[in-house]
Amino acid sequence: MSHLFESASSGRSKCRGCGRPIQREELRFGERLPNPFGEGEMTLWFHPACAAYKRPEPLLQTLGGTLENIPDRARLERAARSSLAHRRLPRIDGAERSPSGQAKCRSCHKPIGRGSWRIRLVFYEEGLFSPGGFVHLDCRKAYFETDDILDLVLHFSSGLSDGEREELKRACDTDPTRAPLP
Ligand SMILES: [Zn+2]
Ligand SMILES: [Zn+2]
Repeated sequence: MSHLFESASSGRSKCRGCGRPIQREELRFGERLPNPFGEGEMTLWFHPACAAYKRPEPLLQTLGGTLENIPDRARLERAARSSLAHRRLPRIDGAERSPSGQAKCRSCHKPIGRGSWRIRLVFYEEGLFSPGGFVHLDCRKAYFETDDILDLVLHFSSGLSDGEREELKRACDTDPTRAPLP
């Protein structure tokens, strides 16, 4: 069972990391797993960058054993090493303004106010990513144990407009340690 890089033979596969289609002939990363529904194996396909952030371990293993020319190899390695070093980073699934005040933050356990920025979390288990709640943007350092998350958050926030992305960048520039303590 070995993971692989290959150029997509069709445009029908969807990236497990970001949910968007992988274009035909685009380079994709395949994580091979035993098939939970029966015999054989299944392959989870990812954009290489999505795998670097969300499945750093298999991606690094495979990069290490691959002589092929992988575009952005150094960047992919850097992203994956950072995700490996901070065990909660692979849970990041993007950011959004909270549509209601219902959800509680997984870090400080206080409600996330309607309209304030929150980071979506997903948990990976045996080939599946499941929604895992939210943390306040301002709780990022307490929860992820690093402040260096903006690239990762933006990567998985394709639903945001350009204006919202700018706002998010500005919000990430403010020092969360100056936010009121939980
Ligand atoms: Zn993707
Ligand atoms: Zn919080």
